[in-house]
Amino acid sequence: MNWLEIDKEYVWHPYNSLPSKTKILPVTSTHKTSIFLQSGEELIDGMSSWWSAIHGYNNPVLNEALKKQVEIMPHIMFGGIAHEQASLLSKKLVDLTKLHSVFLCDSGSVSVEVALKTAILYQKAKGLKKYKFLALENAYHGDTLGAMSVCDPQNSMHSIYGSYLSENIFTKAPALGFKTDCSEEIKILENNFEKHHNEIAAFILEPIVQGAGGMRIYNPQYLKKARELCTKYDILLIADEIATGFGHTGCMFACEWAEIKPDIMTLGKGLTGGYMTMAAMITSREVSEVISNSEIGVLMHGPTFMANPLACSVANASIDLLLSSSWMQNVNKIQDIFSQELEFAKDLKLVKDVRNIGAIGIIELKDDIYAQKIQDYCVKNGVWIRPFGKLIYSIVAYTIEEKDLRKIVKTMIAAIKSLEK
Ligand SMILES: *Cc1c(COP(=O)(O)O)cnc(C)c1O
Repeated sequence: MNWLEIDKEYVWHPYNSLPSKTKILPVTSTHKTSIFLQSGEELIDGMSSWWSAIHGYNNPVLNEALKKQVEIMPHIMFGGIAHEQASLLSKKLVDLTKLHSVFLCDSGSVSVEVALKTAILYQKAKGLKKYKFLALENAYHGDTLGAMSVCDPQNSMHSIYGSYLSENIFTKAPALGFKTDCSEEIKILENNFEKHHNEIAAFILEPIVQGAGGMRIYNPQYLKKARELCTKYDILLIADEIATGFGHTGCMFACEWAEIKPDIMTLGKGLTGGYMTMAAMITSREVSEVISNSEIGVLMHGPTFMANPLACSVANASIDLLLSSSWMQNVNKIQDIFSQELEFAKDLKLVKDVRNIGAIGIIELKDDIYAQKIQDYCVKNGVWIRPFGKLIYSIVAYTIEEKDLRKIVKTMIAAIKSLEK
């Protein structure tokens, strides 16, 4: 059996059956913003590996950091042990987020689990029994059970897992559009706070851009109000910046658009520049103090590969590289190019809406039956995207060349046009 035959027979792929009902591409290497197939074909990467490869692939600086660390200490358990790379990374995250207490774990979903657990602990430490979360419709926070329970109840996997998932409270997501008025949704939010604040431990949301639950961009005003209400009712605000963090929306963190600070932030995806699996939950000093001074006293969580030194070292290198680059200028330029190119999709018959912010460009179709055909067309024409449902979108590395970015959007549009015939 060659490796592709083994894949077909034995290997699960995400959100898929076994064997896969859809085409799986054999990739042999990556370089900058290119993906090379076994056939020798080259695809321009329009996904940056699900928001993670912010500098592109095989960056020499990141490669070097990993090579250096592997010779020193590839891994060490974190229970009762400290190491330099974890300390350096934690301090960088504290400086960037202006928060205080850092928990390094192994994936975005796990960091969301830890955030939910921390919020319950915090309320318990205050003598309150608050076991529910407030979340947004269209939210996506990951695939583990706790994270799933705060994902949109309609378009996520609630129906499959039924009563096994904890019941939470959902509020209407803010209207689409960075400048769109969302006072209607704020009113609904206020009502939900008023009605349920006694049972809510935290309000969890993806700031400014809701990702996998609908690629929805919304007004910072909503975020401001969410902060106000959380403070008023002593409910923690969890900002899930796993997707939006590290510059994707044009700010280092999307919370900055509303000039607010959450009580808890989760980070992942771009954290290691797309090299290693790694995430972080960061809380305010108050949250960790209240928990630590309580009867419970400890945060009961500890993944085996917590604070893995290889992941920490490449995260340190990635953050340094980002901060030493003109990333904001690059992201703004990407935003302009997305705006220009997406303009040509606006009036197509199959298109419902186009929108973009930072390094993210989105075409929403009227129908959800074309995703596979559009992907096939793009791959055939040298572009890698992975649309879902009605959403044909691209998130690119900040280092992408202008002509490649233009080709991604032009190919997406050509794919849609090919279906209109
Ligand atoms: C991807 C994502 C997660 C889950 O992260 P994983 O590393 O895939 O577990 C959680 N929240 C948001 C907003 C995400 O985009």
